[in-house]
Amino acid sequence: MNVRDSEHMIAELNRKEPYELTQNLDEADLIIINTCSVREKPVAKLFSEIGVFNKHKKPGAKIGVAGCTASHLGKDIIKRAPSVDFVIGARNVSKITQVVDKKHAVEIDTDYDESTYAFGEYRTNPFKAMVNISIGCDKSCTFCIVPATRGDEISIPSDLLVQEITKAVGTGAKEIMLLGQNVNNYGRRFGAVEEKIDFTGLLRKISKIEGLERIRFTSPHPLHMDDAFLEEFASNPKICKQIHVPLQSGSTSLLKAMKRGYTKENFLDRCEKIRRLCPEATISTDIIVGFPGESEEDFEDTMDVLERVRFEQLFSFKYSPRPHTEAADFEAQIDNNIAGERLTRLQKRHTEILDEVMDAQLGKVHTVYFDELKPGGRVSGRSDDGKLVFVEGSEELLGKISDIKITKTSRGALDGVLV
Ligand code: SAH
Repeated sequence: MNVRDSEHMIAELNRKEPYELTQNLDEADLIIINTCSVREKPVAKLFSEIGVFNKHKKPGAKIGVAGCTASHLGKDIIKRAPSVDFVIGARNVSKITQVVDKKHAVEIDTDYDESTYAFGEYRTNPFKAMVNISIGCDKSCTFCIVPATRGDEISIPSDLLVQEITKAVGTGAKEIMLLGQNVNNYGRRFGAVEEKIDFTGLLRKISKIEGLERIRFTSPHPLHMDDAFLEEFASNPKICKQIHVPLQSGSTSLLKAMKRGYTKENFLDRCEKIRRLCPEATISTDIIVGFPGESEEDFEDTMDVLERVRFEQLFSFKYSPRPHTEAADFEAQIDNNIAGERLTRLQKRHTEILDEVMDAQLGKVHTVYFDELKPGGRVSGRSDDGKLVFVEGSEELLGKISDIKITKTSRGALDGVLV
């Protein structure tokens, strides 16, 4: 989502005047740091980075801070680092051209409605496009700062989405990634425009776009995984068979304390349904360890879900108390060493599972969309189920979807040959 926000800002700036991206700090006239704030570490990193930029930037170059940390710290960023020229929140990226020339401007309004905003076109990768289908988040997960930084959840009208995707397809994107904090809650509320459509309806509508070959989305919420959605996921040939099902914890009592809205059993039931309807699909997840009150037994429940679902991909984090969240004030905060030990155990077991999953790919044939040229005469792409695949080849493979036989496996990627 942050990568997409950066693309939006680049597109908007380019509408105003031509900008070019640079990897050389001493060349840049404008430096924008697009921040995250789900955990504390990136916030600390922001201020050290501002220091580095101050030291090495070209004289007169501007520094802007964007994203979620900008949203929740606002003008305090300028107080602490007066060299920062402007601050622009995660929900206000369309206003970048209004702040870029205004000394110490701060735009962090979370009521600001970007849901009908037509952004200019800019893509990091010409072969695929990211498309926001909703902004904000209406959940009240007790650990999460996102609703405070990105504001209420509003869906973007489906006709606008079809327009945007059609445009992207027309300029070479065969694959799109639909983005939202809870994509499968799409259609619950719109801004100015009234519409009756849900996420399953949106998937069907988008699938009709000619030339669009692959649809991905992130992230769905386990609570909104109704049967119709899972059936559409399994049966629609344009939908890539990779699904993120963020668990957070395997313990029903912790899930309740987190206000996730589902139990361990509900979660397992949804994953079993995915495995049954679509055995070729890969399931990824997010897990937080050391949430306040997490007992050894709670953690065992998380390990149990890992064992049963065998997630192909895992993003795991130590709980980090965040401002504007309920859990930050919970009493039973967990000792850092215990949380660290649990994280290590979880990741170690997951690595074993992942090695088994990847080893089993040897000799299999995957359909891969090639989108990146790599050094050493190689090209990479993603298989339908989301695995990174390399083959020997050059430019002519880019933008092609081909069947690849896997000849070598490793934990992070697969090597193969065209069949
Ligand atoms: N909307 C998504 C979450 C986006 S944040 C969802 O509901 O699943 C991405 C991930 O960061 C979360 O899934 C969670 O695992 C992690 N995260 C969020 N807040 C956190 C916190 N306070 N400490 C540790 N990890 C956190």
